[in-house]
Amino acid sequence: MSSYLHRSLETLTDRNPSQALFKQAVTEVFESLEPLLHEIPEIEANAILERISEPERQIMFRVTWVDDQGCIQVNRGYRVGFSSALGPYKGGMRFHPSVELDVIKFLAFEQIFKNSLTGLGIGGGKGGSDFDPKGKSDGEVMRFCQAFMSELYHFVGEDTDVPAGDIGVGAREIGYLAGQYKRLTKRFAHGVLTGKQVGLGGSLARKEATGYGAVYFAAEMLATRQDSLKGKHCVVSGSGNVAIYCARKIQELGGKVMAMSDSTGCVHDPAGIDLDIVTALKEVERARISEYSNRRHGSKFFEQQKVWNFPCEVAFPCATQNELALEDAKALLENGCQAVIEGANMPTTPEAIALLREKGTLFAPGKAANAGGVAVSALEMQQNAALQNWSFAQVDDRLKAIMANIHNDCVFYANKYRRTEDYVFGANVAGFLKVAEAVKSYGVF
Ligand code: GLU
Repeated sequence: MSSYLHRSLETLTDRNPSQALFKQAVTEVFESLEPLLHEIPEIEANAILERISEPERQIMFRVTWVDDQGCIQVNRGYRVGFSSALGPYKGGMRFHPSVELDVIKFLAFEQIFKNSLTGLGIGGGKGGSDFDPKGKSDGEVMRFCQAFMSELYHFVGEDTDVPAGDIGVGAREIGYLAGQYKRLTKRFAHGVLTGKQVGLGGSLARKEATGYGAVYFAAEMLATRQDSLKGKHCVVSGSGNVAIYCARKIQELGGKVMAMSDSTGCVHDPAGIDLDIVTALKEVERARISEYSNRRHGSKFFEQQKVWNFPCEVAFPCATQNELALEDAKALLENGCQAVIEGANMPTTPEAIALLREKGTLFAPGKAANAGGVAVSALEMQQNAALQNWSFAQVDDRLKAIMANIHNDCVFYANKYRRTEDYVFGANVAGFLKVAEAVKSYGVF
């Protein structure tokens, strides 16, 4: 490891001693940059690694709200603006009990390079809260969102920071946040939040974008080996927005989804997952995935088990960080898996990635494969700015083209540095170079 790289990572660890996820995300990117450091001395001369790994701003705030029993509840809110080199901070908000600064920082850091890869002029940010929407009434979620926005509204704006959804934050939450923003500022929330319902200025195909985009990326990847998703057995972890639309697109392209999951376990369906049931359970009833096996003859629920133990040719981790560990990668390989495409953010551990790559499995990192969601968020911003509403097909065509471009960029840099099929390397380098150039061009600040 070069001494500059070593120093940068050491400083990062000293400065953020208990932030393991953040360190994992930075280490993966920095290690990819090794061959560039000799070739481009300006990276060190301009302290790009130091600047790129320290957030421009980190906002933490108290969120106080009243539950249905009349009790006062206190949560913590976060918004990290990591880099505005390429545009306003852009990235989702996660409402989940596991949320802490480490989680938001790793997500915001990943977002910088993901957003850079889209080529759409958006910086990187992320936010959220340790609020748990599970089991909360609509009224409780609304009051929480209103309290959250009562502080956040000071910091967002179409040219400064444009939040959206992530785990636990969908169109319902964005609607409540937009309502409170409007109430406080007397300004329409156009351009300030994305992932809005279509009736509030949201974009068609935004809901589908992350999942569809991951599958478009998978199709591009498989095509490099003269292969496709047709007839492939797939497993998809999760059953949220990303997982559901990932599974839908797999089926549309002729693949068969054998298993899906949630935090309680997974379901396996030898006839292929019926997505109408999953959508009804998750989007309408907000029920557990175990209920699927009661509604579908021949399927089976496996409590606290992951989807990686079922035979498949293609796997799509679409749930959460570090959900696919070394033993899972071993199980996938034993069962004949040929490709892993990350729909979630950093779902595969570094050890699992290393093993998959060593065995010749195609591996697509989230910052490339799941960039479709934020890309369509940027298309939503474009539509809002022009007071236009594009058709589903218009947005979907652009999404397809963006995913193909990202794929090409990854392949270009992987080949350039003789790292054939190394999409982690390709994505990190392609994403980094644009940001580094912008940071340098602005001068020192
Ligand atoms: N949370 C999503 C992501 O991880 C989407 C962000 C956005 O639409 O701004 O990229």
